[in-house]
Amino acid sequence: MTPEEFRDAGHRLIDWIADYRINIEQMPVRAQVSPGEIKNRLPESPPEAPETIDRLLQDLDEIVLPGITQVQHPMHFGWFPSNASLASVLGDIASSGLGTLGISWESCPALTEVEQVVCDWMRQLTGLSEQWKGTIHDTASTACLTALLLAREQASGYSQNEGGLQSVPRPLVVYTTEEAHSSVTKATLLAGFGKQNLRLVEHEPTTRAMLPDALKNSIEQDIADDYQPAAVVASVGSTGVTAFDPVARIAEITSQHKIWLHVDAAMAGSAMLLPECRHLWEGIEAADSISWNPHKWMGTILDCALFYVKDSAHLIRVMSTNPSYLRSSVDREVTQYRDWGIPLGRRFRALKLWFHLRLDGPDAIRERLRRDLDNARWFAAEVEKTPDWRVLTPVNLQTVCIRHEPAGVEGEMLNAHTLAWVSEINQSGKAFISPAKIDGCWLVRVSIGVETCDREHVQCLWELIKSTASAGTDGFLMTNA
Ligand SMILES: *Cc1c(COP(=O)(O)O)cnc(C)c1O
Repeated sequence: MTPEEFRDAGHRLIDWIADYRINIEQMPVRAQVSPGEIKNRLPESPPEAPETIDRLLQDLDEIVLPGITQVQHPMHFGWFPSNASLASVLGDIASSGLGTLGISWESCPALTEVEQVVCDWMRQLTGLSEQWKGTIHDTASTACLTALLLAREQASGYSQNEGGLQSVPRPLVVYTTEEAHSSVTKATLLAGFGKQNLRLVEHEPTTRAMLPDALKNSIEQDIADDYQPAAVVASVGSTGVTAFDPVARIAEITSQHKIWLHVDAAMAGSAMLLPECRHLWEGIEAADSISWNPHKWMGTILDCALFYVKDSAHLIRVMSTNPSYLRSSVDREVTQYRDWGIPLGRRFRALKLWFHLRLDGPDAIRERLRRDLDNARWFAAEVEKTPDWRVLTPVNLQTVCIRHEPAGVEGEMLNAHTLAWVSEINQSGKAFISPAKIDGCWLVRVSIGVETCDREHVQCLWELIKSTASAGTDGFLMTNA
């Protein structure tokens, strides 16, 4: 494709994307396809001759769009907001168009230095002190793995340069809670700690936040049993119910025992753009590493996960391999981001954040986050004042966990009822919400915060929920009578 052909096809594609965003509300929220359906509509073998952009756009419309669960749809309340602001989309396109190669400072100085600047802008915007140095990873999962590698090497005195974990005298232990994201378990396994050395510390039953005393006891017990505590992963806004582990109290314990403290704020980091929310991570300055995803609620398109450390010398010591073919005369003066994470070749990811911050502006982003918090409070209040409905966990941010509990419906019957009304809503394509199982009981998470979701959409969802659930109970009680 020549640049002129690209210009023509590219304009068509941008128009197509703009139309998609304009018309998204007409589409079902959840993809209405069954497994294999999309695949069956595609040719088995690749084309030999070139095709036209028209044919491709037609297939995007006819084959791809029906196979998308529309997370940009204002009636999407599932999982978490996975916003993709169009300003950041432009930055992503710029990154692709430049086709840079990020393997060293020398291979693209701008890639490194724009990333340094935007990470520092984000540090300032979230109220962190200057001691934090940041980089952009693909996801919070990768950031958590990196953090646990740093913890492992701190606890083992750089065992990786000798026999690795196979030679450490005492098993190294990681602490988190049951509320933690599955990526914490995965990172623990990948970093070689082993499942037996992952402790799920007791949490407070209502807030589901880690109990610092339980952490302290668990650590002391492990030390007595000849284990070596290496890392605590605290959730700042857990995925299930947006629980906030008490960072300040946890940090007192970790600093006393020289244990690495990683704060997983993947979802709730966006809230830290709002000064009024920062009490939720009080004590954060005492952590060792932090990660959060602008690619969630804040709305910089996937993939964009910020990772901050205080001791970047330790990070580089653990992650650097410094092969001869990548060395250059400026190495002492510059940042080599390949030594801050796992991949060698890196995209110019900072551009999407740079575009997002410059074209939308932090003021408008903060205003949107406040709108969502307000909508969540409104929704929770409506649920609470309606008979037979309950809000089950504290509404710390924009996720509201609810259940319909009609009289006489309990236990397994209640679980079946909950799953039935959720599934009816999701199948209808009118809205999407996700159920979650907490302490053996299903509840429904309403995660507010899609960029285009206004109060009217939340109102519309609440009407839909009420009518679907009560119709469900009528049918349910009749069939079970
Ligand atoms: C979403 C989420 C993750 C995982 O994020 P990825 O970027 O998809 O790896 C981890 N932790 C929490 C608390 C999350 O909400």
